[in-house]
Amino acid sequence: MSLSLYNTMTRGKAAFSPRDAKNVRMYVCGPTVYDLAHIGNARPIIVFDVLFRLLRHVYGDAHVTYARNITDVDDKINARAVERFPELDPIAAIKKLTTETTSQFHADIAALGVLAPTIEPRATDHIAGMRALCDTLLAKGHAYVVENHVLFHVPSMADYGRLSGRSVDDMIAGARVDVAPYKRDAMDFVLWKPSAAGVPAWPSPCGIAVAGRPGWHIECSAMSEQHLGIEFDIHGGGIDLAFPHHENEVAQSRCAHGTATLASVWMHNGFLQVEGEKMSKSLGNFITINELLASKAFGGQPWHGRVLRLAMLTTHYRQPIDWTVDRLVQARATLIEFADLVQGATPAVAPLPEVVAALSDDLNTPSALSIIHGIAKSARRNPATAGELKAALQFLGLLGSETAADLDLGRAALDIDAAEIGRQIMARADARRARDFKASDRIRDELAAKGIQLKDTKNTGTGEIETTWEVKR
Ligand code: AMP
Ligand code: ZN
Repeated sequence: MSLSLYNTMTRGKAAFSPRDAKNVRMYVCGPTVYDLAHIGNARPIIVFDVLFRLLRHVYGDAHVTYARNITDVDDKINARAVERFPELDPIAAIKKLTTETTSQFHADIAALGVLAPTIEPRATDHIAGMRALCDTLLAKGHAYVVENHVLFHVPSMADYGRLSGRSVDDMIAGARVDVAPYKRDAMDFVLWKPSAAGVPAWPSPCGIAVAGRPGWHIECSAMSEQHLGIEFDIHGGGIDLAFPHHENEVAQSRCAHGTATLASVWMHNGFLQVEGEKMSKSLGNFITINELLASKAFGGQPWHGRVLRLAMLTTHYRQPIDWTVDRLVQARATLIEFADLVQGATPAVAPLPEVVAALSDDLNTPSALSIIHGIAKSARRNPATAGELKAALQFLGLLGSETAADLDLGRAALDIDAAEIGRQIMARADARRARDFKASDRIRDELAAKGIQLKDTKNTGTGEIETTWEVKR
C-alpha cells in the first residue's frame, strides 16, 4: 500500500517513505494549556489521530512513535494564572492552571475517539534541552546574547523561509510589528528571555547571569530532538503554525545540528471557521469542546463527541471548514444510521482496502466516507456486510461501543423536537420579561416532565440571560 502525503515544504504531494519503517516518527504541536480547548483546536487533534491510525495500520502498531506536546510555559499562561488565582503565589497559580487545563484537555479529547499519542512531552520537563540548543547555536554563530536575551540571528541561515515560502519583505513586514531595538535584524527571534519576579525562571544558558525562560519555538526543537531524534518523518499542526513557529523550529534545529531537514514531511490542517473567520480565542468566536459535549449547547443542544469527529472529517484536512449546526445535525443523522446498521455485528478483521487506499491518498477522509456510505448501502440490503461497515467506522475512530441511542444522547427515545424546545425557551423568556413568572415556571415544569432540564446563565458580555437545555433521565 503506498501512502502519499502533501508536504508544505515542497508544496506538492509525494510518496511517503519513512527514514526507518520500524520506527516511523511524527511530531504534532499540542495545546498551550491556559484555557479550555476550542473546537478549532480539536481539528489537528482529530486529523493527526487519523494519520496515526493509518500509519499504525501500514507499518504496525509497534513501529510508529507519535509525540504531541503540552506547552506549559508561555506568557499567556502567566497572565491567566494570576488573573484566575490571585490568592496564590504566581508560581503556584501557574502550576494549578496548567495542571487543571491539561486534565480538562485530556477529558475533552477522550470523547472524540482520539488515541493517546505514544509520548506527550511537557515543555517544562525539557528546559535543559532548550538551554543546550541555545548554547550550541551561540557557539556556532547562529545566535547572540543581548540584554540577557538569546536571539536567533536569521541572516545566519542561508535558506531561512523555505517552509512558509514567504518573501523576505513579507516576513520583515510581519516582524516589524514588534521589533525590539536590541535586535540585530528585524527577523531575529527570541530563544531565551529574562524573567521578572513572579514569572517562572530557570538558570539561563549562554553565560547569562539572571534566570530566565524559553521563547516559544525552542521547546518543540528540544522535545522533538529528545523523543524522535534530530531528523524525523512527519511534523504537523494547524496552518497558522507554519510561520513563524515551524519556520523557526526548522531554523533552530537545522542550524544547531548541521542537518539538511528537521522533518521530511510538513503537514498543516486548514482552519475551522465561523462565518469566514478563523475560530480563535482572540476573536472571541469560539465554542469550547467542553461546551459542545457537556450539554452546554451549540444550536441549543449537546452533541456526542463522535458526531463532532464525523462532522470534522467530512471535509479534507487541508480545506477550511465553515462550522454550522447543520453540519452537526447531518453528521449525527449519518452516525446514528451507521450505528443502527452495525448493532450486534462482529467487525471484520481489517478495514476494506478501498477505505485504506482513500486515506492513503493524503488522508482523503471525504473519499473514505463516501466509500463507507457505499458499504452502508449494501449493509442495508445484506446484513452480512455490516461487519465491514463496523470495521471501517472503528478504524476511523467514528464508532466505539456506542449505540444509536448513545449518539443521540437519548433524544430519540424521548421524542424530542429541538425546534419546539427552542420555541418554548423563547416563550418562557417572553413571559419572564413580561414578569409573568407563573407562565414561565409552567413552561419550565412541562419541559422537566419530559426529561428536559433548562439551565439559565447570565452572559457576562451582554447581561442577557441565556438558556440551554439538556436531557435528564
Ligand atoms: P494553540 O493552543 O493556539 O497553539 O493551538 C493548538 C493547535 O490548534 C495548533 O495546531 C493550531 O494551529 C490549531 N488551531 C487553532 N485554531 C484553529 C482553527 N480555528 N482551526 C484549525 N486549527 C486551529
Ligand atoms: Zn511546536
